[in-house]
Amino acid sequence: MSFSPLTEALNLLEEQGLRRRRHVLKGPQGARVMVGDMHCLSFSSNDYLGLANHAALVDTLKSAAAQYGLGAGSSHLAGGHMAPHHRLEETLASFTGRQAALLFSTGYMANLGIVSALVGRNDEIFADKLNHASLNDAALLSRARHSRYPHLDLSALEKRLAASRARRKLVVTDAVFSMDGDIAPVPELLALCERHDALLLLDDAHGFGVLGRTGRGVLEHFGVAPSERIIYMATLGKAAGVFGAFAAGPAELVDFLVQRARTYIYTTAMPPALAAALSTSLELIENEAWRQARLRQLIAALKQGLKLERWRLMESITPIQPVIIGSNKETLAVSEALRKRNICVPAIRPPTVPKGEARLRISLSAAHSDADIARLVEALNALERTL
Ligand SMILES: *Cc1c(COP(=O)(O)O)cnc(C)c1O
Repeated sequence: MSFSPLTEALNLLEEQGLRRRRHVLKGPQGARVMVGDMHCLSFSSNDYLGLANHAALVDTLKSAAAQYGLGAGSSHLAGGHMAPHHRLEETLASFTGRQAALLFSTGYMANLGIVSALVGRNDEIFADKLNHASLNDAALLSRARHSRYPHLDLSALEKRLAASRARRKLVVTDAVFSMDGDIAPVPELLALCERHDALLLLDDAHGFGVLGRTGRGVLEHFGVAPSERIIYMATLGKAAGVFGAFAAGPAELVDFLVQRARTYIYTTAMPPALAAALSTSLELIENEAWRQARLRQLIAALKQGLKLERWRLMESITPIQPVIIGSNKETLAVSEALRKRNICVPAIRPPTVPKGEARLRISLSAAHSDADIARLVEALNALERTL
């Protein structure tokens, strides 16, 4: 059975070193995972705080499932909005210091829903070139004009904002860039949005739970006060350790999303037990700030230990620590060589990153030990010399 255009396309991907393969994990997420029959020291998860397999979350999930059952049964508006969802939204609003919050099933869906609700044909989106795929797809779906500015180039952004005749302007950016680990200059972006009467959508998928002294994310990191112009969005499947996403902002904005965000309206609500587990996750993040401090220590240890000459560790203060290698094949070879040493670091290739910038994407977790970091550092330093 083969359909030749697909065979050809797959063969081409293979030749280019771009064919992706999945590895089956036989146990929970954590610093150590079982990949098939192999024990692996993992630097491949976005479980930055080590909460994905936390006993308190699993316990809450079990007891909430006993109380509320498993499925939500319908969409939020059609009768599936259950007490654990509602409580989580209230907790997210107060945790982020915004008036209200709205729960989505995934970050991908949140971005599609938020952007296409806020802008349409006569409007313009201003987007950083390195934004996450979901924000780009959201722009396409909205039918607004999609103006992509060079990564972090605020003067290019300002020129475009000044020249725009659009009815409504929306600046969208990753707060922490998912493949580079660098942080968008939120105070300056907000000032531009104020000057040019634009809204600002911040996707803090990788900052929520991680950035700021108490893990409240990019706004805490910069000490930016909540602004009516900011729509804050973050995911709950990364540092929060579970699944889902939310938008937070002024109550009126959130109510507008309830009316207009199609990925909120036309989809089944997430299982209520997941929402309950997320409330427990937020309590842990709120009460146990040692995880953020621990991450900062591990990041410093990695930076200090790596002595690279041909490869380059990118400038990043977040748990996303990319090592740029360049060619797809060499990147794959390094990832493979690490795997032979039972260390898992994903090779990220185009189109996820620009051509010629294939990289290892190291992601650190508060669950890693000092010895784990030392093992990775030693392996990378040695491989750079020998490969
Ligand atoms: C992971 C991610 C998303 C998507 O979130 P999911 O909940 O996994 O769908 C959106 N934006 C960014 C920047 C991300 O890294």
